[in-house]
Amino acid sequence: MKRDTTIVHAGIAPDPTTGSIIPPIYETATYVLDEVGRDKGFDYTRSSNPTRQVLEDNLAAIEGGAHGISFASGMSAVDSCLKTLDSGDHVVCTDDVYGGVTRLFNQVLSRHGIGVTYVDSSQPETVRQAVRPETRMLWIETPTNPLLKVTDLAAMAEIAREHDLIYAVDSTFATPIFLRPLEYGADIVMHSTTKYLSGHNQIIGGIVVTNREDIRDQLKFLQKSVGAVSSPFDCWLTLLGVKTLHLRMERHATNAQGVAEFLEAHDKVARVAYPGLASHPQHGIAKAQMSGFSGMISFELTGGIAAGKTLMNSVELCGLAESLGAVETMITHPATMTHVDVPVEERHARGLTDGLVRISVGIEDADDIIADLSQALDKAEA
Ligand SMILES: *Cc1c(COP(=O)(O)O)cnc(C)c1O
Repeated sequence: MKRDTTIVHAGIAPDPTTGSIIPPIYETATYVLDEVGRDKGFDYTRSSNPTRQVLEDNLAAIEGGAHGISFASGMSAVDSCLKTLDSGDHVVCTDDVYGGVTRLFNQVLSRHGIGVTYVDSSQPETVRQAVRPETRMLWIETPTNPLLKVTDLAAMAEIAREHDLIYAVDSTFATPIFLRPLEYGADIVMHSTTKYLSGHNQIIGGIVVTNREDIRDQLKFLQKSVGAVSSPFDCWLTLLGVKTLHLRMERHATNAQGVAEFLEAHDKVARVAYPGLASHPQHGIAKAQMSGFSGMISFELTGGIAAGKTLMNSVELCGLAESLGAVETMITHPATMTHVDVPVEERHARGLTDGLVRISVGIEDADDIIADLSQALDKAEA
């Protein structure tokens, strides 16, 4: 099966009892056994569920992996991957990583003896230098949130092999349409399905795909022990979203390229970060390992905090919202929104400057998105 056919069909067969073309929502907690020790493959929904199984098989096939494990959120998927580690273990992690991952490392896992070093993984040497004798895992996010830095996945695989590390990639921004980390040697690919995979701002969810049976077994055991599973209804809604993933991603990417080029030419914009622009520092790597550049852009306004606030309060079509990866265009200003509580020096040290704006370009008509940004930029301070 070719990719687009896999997206629509993999893991999905007509329901054997009714012929229903869409998998039923199995809202059940438990399953009646045929006799002691003999079930139909399911015993309790914390362990497994038929609707969840369809989603797991579908997403594993799309990612090109053997096993999928579906979680209640992207963060619970990250948490379970990190709980395969022991107290005393250490992780080398991309510095510009999703904020929830930093919070999990710094405020939760640190209390359980798991250490972390954040490095700019777009510079492979800094990753190699951060590896210690107790390092067990590489946690790589590419492209990053919100600065859109791109990491060379083949270079990371080499470091992971040299030091016998579990190599995990948060591929939420790229999606399997544009990037296949397993082909670059990753052991684990993780997505927040809340974003592009479900695509319609309709659920919170996460998925892990792996070819390694030992990792699959550990994650299934953790799910059975803790229960961070996605509900059958959320799995079903995600499946509906996934069916148009390839069509949506193509449109996100062409729209984003147009918006990025418009912004780069605007005199109130100091710089634009989009992997599809020739000016992006890792444009070469992005072009080599990705087949498209997805829909996320960040840019720096010349007018700092004031301009950011004005832009946020002047957009009409773009939604002022913290999520990303859905059909609607969404925009955020970290300095006054997501990172308002981070001390200024720390925020600046992380590259989250006063005029930084992040935009998740939707699948509306690109002309309307650009017109909205244009009228809002006209009002923004220079
Ligand atoms: C949103 C997001 C997460 C967390 O996922 P949730 O579904 O919100 O728990 C992790 N990584 C990235 C890159 C994300 O964008």
